[in-house]
Amino acid sequence: MFIYPCDGLLEDQNQPCPSSSIPITGNCSSCGKHLCQLHSTVEHHPCVLLDEHRKRNAEIALHHKEISTLLDQIDSSQLESNITALKPGIPCRAMIPLPSQVLRGGMNVHISIQFEDGVRWFARIRQQSHSSPPIEVQEMIMRSEMITMQFLKQGGVRVPEVFPGNQMSHGRQPSDVGERRQQTEPKLIYFFIQDIQGEPCDSPIQEGSLNLYQVNKIIEDYAKQMILISQLHLNSIGSLHLDQFGKIQIGPLIDIDICPFKSSRDRFISQIDLILEDIEKGLRFVDDPQTAYLVHLQVKQWIMEDLTLGVEEEEFYIKHADDKGDHIMVDDEGNITGIIDWEWAYSTTKSEAFSAPLGLVNISDYFNGSNSLSPQEERLAETYEKLGRPDLSAWVRASKKYQRLLHTIGQSPDIVMLLALGECFGQGLEEKVEKNKQVSLVEWVIEAKKRLPLSELGE
Ligand SMILES: [Zn+2]
Ligand SMILES: [Zn+2]
Repeated sequence: MFIYPCDGLLEDQNQPCPSSSIPITGNCSSCGKHLCQLHSTVEHHPCVLLDEHRKRNAEIALHHKEISTLLDQIDSSQLESNITALKPGIPCRAMIPLPSQVLRGGMNVHISIQFEDGVRWFARIRQQSHSSPPIEVQEMIMRSEMITMQFLKQGGVRVPEVFPGNQMSHGRQPSDVGERRQQTEPKLIYFFIQDIQGEPCDSPIQEGSLNLYQVNKIIEDYAKQMILISQLHLNSIGSLHLDQFGKIQIGPLIDIDICPFKSSRDRFISQIDLILEDIEKGLRFVDDPQTAYLVHLQVKQWIMEDLTLGVEEEEFYIKHADDKGDHIMVDDEGNITGIIDWEWAYSTTKSEAFSAPLGLVNISDYFNGSNSLSPQEERLAETYEKLGRPDLSAWVRASKKYQRLLHTIGQSPDIVMLLALGECFGQGLEEKVEKNKQVSLVEWVIEAKKRLPLSELGE
């Protein structure tokens, strides 16, 4: 969780507010300010009074301003000369889009680079918005994505070729509010990526725009790519970085900045402890901290008691962090032309890395609490068996625990999701509640308070 200092001003003194802003809900998408509890109130923050229509207009105007600022920084002749150093002898032209052509909600802006020999690259540039993490962290995200893609490419995995962009120094995450306040200067952070043929799959990947033959072809091709990934071993759970000699090493996971781990248990517990700490400090789930606290304590307890998550492993594998389907590019036949968007990818245990991608999940069943595999997940498990990898097939069949952990830790409490996760850990509800199938979150909290220590949150 990246926490910005509050952009509010102290009354009378006109001095910057010394508090931290509230994560997520304190980021105003209308004016772009980060605000603390005090400065989010109506007396200090007029955006609170905007009706839906005005709010939407303000958001569009803010996005336009942020994108215009970013595009204004791009010097296309500088960009072209950087490219010429990487691919000498072939002239190229950078096509800068208009702000209105850049979609809202994306993390990156793509500038098309057309070479005279017909080849096309993109400059993948981090969007700088009011909700972006600090510059150092964004550099870390981009650098790690590029290194991950180079690592996969060397292993024969079908990913686009990437080339270094601007000087992405070996930055670190700033550790205190004061330090973060100083780096508000916008900065271009980018690397180059080769264009690949094909179209992104739908999310999720199922029959519809694709026929059954194409879906099965994609699943088979995906399995083959994952088998290639299973041959690329790493030595711990974390994000990929380069050491001072340019050799790949596993560093801390970008979002929690804690040393690499050897077991899933250590990693998930560290993540949860940071969240519990944030809740205690009033930084997260400010509307209902107690429920979020209890839910995270409950998940922590399940993880602590789970023997398989506690195993210290020796080999670890790359996991895509956003595998909802549209990260897979395919041609008309259903052949995978490339797997893209490796931002936030990390190295993790075999069981997590080879759990089924979200792109194969039956979304409505899953969010209604079903822990059964979808027909597409079944197909992936069968395909691994057919390809002589029953080990990977077994991890697909055990997918739900990992899919659900990632959808519960750090997320707003949801009773259906929580109970379904409990089922993955072989945990039923407390007997009293179990008889009532329609248990609500409020009822669950009443039961949970009797069992779980609420610590500093008290009542
Ligand atoms: Zn505002
Ligand atoms: Zn404030």
